[in-house]
Amino acid sequence: TAAVPYRGRFAPSPTGPLHFGSLVAALASCLEARSRGGEWLLRIEDIDTPRNIPGAADAILRTLDACGFAWDGQVLYQSSRLSAYEAALDMLRRRGLLYPCACSRSDIAARASRTAIDGGLLYPGSCRDGLAPGVEVRAWRLRVDDTPLGFEDRLQGVVEQRLAEQVGDFVLRRADGIHAYQLAVVVDDACQGITDIVRGADLLASTPRQLWLQQCLAYPRPSYAHLPVATNPAGEKWSKQTLAPALVAGKAAAELVRALRFLGQPAPAELAVAKVAEVWDWALVNWSFATIPRVPAISVPATAA
Ligand code: GLU
Repeated sequence: TAAVPYRGRFAPSPTGPLHFGSLVAALASCLEARSRGGEWLLRIEDIDTPRNIPGAADAILRTLDACGFAWDGQVLYQSSRLSAYEAALDMLRRRGLLYPCACSRSDIAARASRTAIDGGLLYPGSCRDGLAPGVEVRAWRLRVDDTPLGFEDRLQGVVEQRLAEQVGDFVLRRADGIHAYQLAVVVDDACQGITDIVRGADLLASTPRQLWLQQCLAYPRPSYAHLPVATNPAGEKWSKQTLAPALVAGKAAAELVRALRFLGQPAPAELAVAKVAEVWDWALVNWSFATIPRVPAISVPATAA
């Protein structure tokens, strides 16, 4: 049988302007797709409306454009996909895998005895066996079990979790009606036919949940490569919260060179003052996945020197 053609993606959330860490993910996912003769899609993950910043999606697209990125097809906005997420929930419900949960945060805090892998409380399963009549449904949770769930990441090696012990039954539709990231990302990666996911290692601990959802929904499993995360010298991920500087459009070539070097690509220093198209010419010819550092995080200064 013919191999499925490579299809990658970049999936930023419009919670702020594009910063260095997201440029690294955009660049690596794009270069890997192009070097494999594949497509590269862009998806705006804008379902978590309380976290969206007005204008951020457009600003991200403009910055990507100024940095010379060219994506295939139309940008997919998750806010246009709510009926697909509901259809996936219906299927899980029919299979007995999804159940309504009436617990508030304080209910969970009162009953939980263990900490989950993300540092929160492990859901104690209070609503697993059904709600009493008339009880108000808050969230919808996916059942998990304790089968070890593993995969081999192309950069971070073997990752294995037991969801029942480390994550617990997790929320797919929140009490505020918003679909969870875990659900939306899995539904959209499958619907867009994504074969290869290249993204930051901050999402590594989410991947077993996504594998479980793929299994529950009978979706194919893509391959995964989790890139080192850019941190500040204190070891915190550069983000809006740690005041990551937005990329400066006029310095696109310098930022691309900095991202290439972060990714273990020996881009010549003079490219930093060249045209953006010349940086891409160099990158497309010289891209080497094998030299990307196989570590979860690398500390970098706030801006290009
Ligand atoms: N939207 C997510 C983020 O910006 C990325 C999702 C993904 O790449 O799977 O962190």
